[in-house]
Amino acid sequence: MMEIRLAEHCGFCFGVKRAVTLASDALEKYGRVAVMGDLVHNKKVMEKLRKRGLVYVRDLEEAAGMPLLLQAHGTAPLLIEKARKMGLKVIDATCPLVSEIHRSALELESEGRQVIVIGDRDHDEVRGIVSRLHDACVISHAPDIGEHCDIKPKCGVVIQSTQQFENVREILPILLTKSHDCRIINTICEPTRRNQKEVRELAKSNDCVLVIGDAASANSTRLFTLLQSMNPNSYRISGVEEIDSNWFRGCKTLGITAGASTPDELIDEVLQYVKSLDGDKKK
Ligand code: SF4
Repeated sequence: MMEIRLAEHCGFCFGVKRAVTLASDALEKYGRVAVMGDLVHNKKVMEKLRKRGLVYVRDLEEAAGMPLLLQAHGTAPLLIEKARKMGLKVIDATCPLVSEIHRSALELESEGRQVIVIGDRDHDEVRGIVSRLHDACVISHAPDIGEHCDIKPKCGVVIQSTQQFENVREILPILLTKSHDCRIINTICEPTRRNQKEVRELAKSNDCVLVIGDAASANSTRLFTLLQSMNPNSYRISGVEEIDSNWFRGCKTLGITAGASTPDELIDEVLQYVKSLDGDKKK
């Protein structure tokens, strides 16, 4: 019989939970609510909210007549200002921990530092941080230094909330050789740190590991990359339909975790499914 071990903390982080609750309450109150981009990076969650009246818009003009819900990962201040000027009701679902990163980045800038953001160049959260600054540069991976970023002698560093510690550890020593006054604020959020710690344990102590999360979720993809580097018998799935029972052949233990934008129902569905597979094997 295969033992199934679910990570103690997995699925919706508190910032995502808060954003989904705000969306749900706003839909209840207003019927239709506009959002620019994904409120959370999970297709199934977004689909459910769309069915209840959440409308994806490409620009503010399309949002006319509806309240505008701001994403958990932050929004450029110019866009918020424009929305208010247009008379749109703004509902702010920005995670407080993301707002904290914005404050840290502004503090570094006010000290006369070039601000370096370690994170995924195209991610909404990183775009949101950069949009608040005058002279920022983004480093996604160590080779970006020099190619995308000319490091100034006085700089400061903030980190995308969901960055993997291993990636940051490769970048920081290079930055320190290029700058003589570098202030680093570790802005990887607490839920991410805790999840990454648990994932390392899962990878070490199980024969096979599943991470449940959408391909569009940077956080799930990062957990998966970390898992794979430690345990090659690891798989990322966005739902039960992607599970191949052959993965579990000869496995005595199966570890399961989920990204910060994966809802509890989906985690339960996967749990029930893998338990039923084990039941089938016994028949
Ligand atoms: S991953 Fe961290 S920063 Fe991002 S929404 Fe969740 S709690 Fe907030």
